[in-house]
Amino acid sequence: MKVNNSKFVISAVSDKQYPQDDLPEIALSGRSNVGKSSLINAVLNRRNLARTSQQPGKTQTLNFYLVNTDLYFVDVPGYGYAKVSKEQRQKFGEMIQDYLETRADLKGLVLLVDARHDPTVDDINMFNYALCLNIPILVVATKIDKLKKSAIGQLESKIGLSLDLTQSQVTFLPFSSETKINIDKFWKWIENSIK
Ligand code: GDP
Repeated sequence: MKVNNSKFVISAVSDKQYPQDDLPEIALSGRSNVGKSSLINAVLNRRNLARTSQQPGKTQTLNFYLVNTDLYFVDVPGYGYAKVSKEQRQKFGEMIQDYLETRADLKGLVLLVDARHDPTVDDINMFNYALCLNIPILVVATKIDKLKKSAIGQLESKIGLSLDLTQSQVTFLPFSSETKINIDKFWKWIENSIK
């Protein structure tokens, strides 16, 4: 897909604020600092689109980005923020759960994991949850420019120890926002998911 246009649309705190135009949506999630904003900016060819709308540790919202007039990226704020109270976290967890379980426009989940580390408990929980809901999942291993070639070769089997990448609804993709390696495969997966 060629991106001609992208814009931030809304930070939604409740489902009443979600876009009403029935475009397909792709959710992106991962722990904070995994490289999610960098990936969004890299694939949309923007310098600072994703960061500007985020307020780490404050209100947690689902951030909608319109890509061309084809689809929305739905940025699910990183899990694992220490600053957020237990009550806030629970409330937000319910909102995400509700979104993932009921949103008819949702066509897939991009789950970002850090290529240098084993998936966290939160990563595993999110993965298994989306698997149960039959949502197509693209597992993106981020920051692979920081790995040696030999480590990149072993990445899929290493991450496969924690996440069942053999499931038919699951695709694995090593990625770097620095080099944009595999960006074509990223967009292929998006195109297939929304058609
Ligand atoms: P977010 O919290 O998931 O949105 O993470 P960010 O996109 O803000 O990235 C967190 C840190 O990792 C920043 O310092 C980024 O510059 C860095 N980073 C993100 N992606 C990459 C990547 O592909 N390669 C390298 N080397 N660093 C990255």
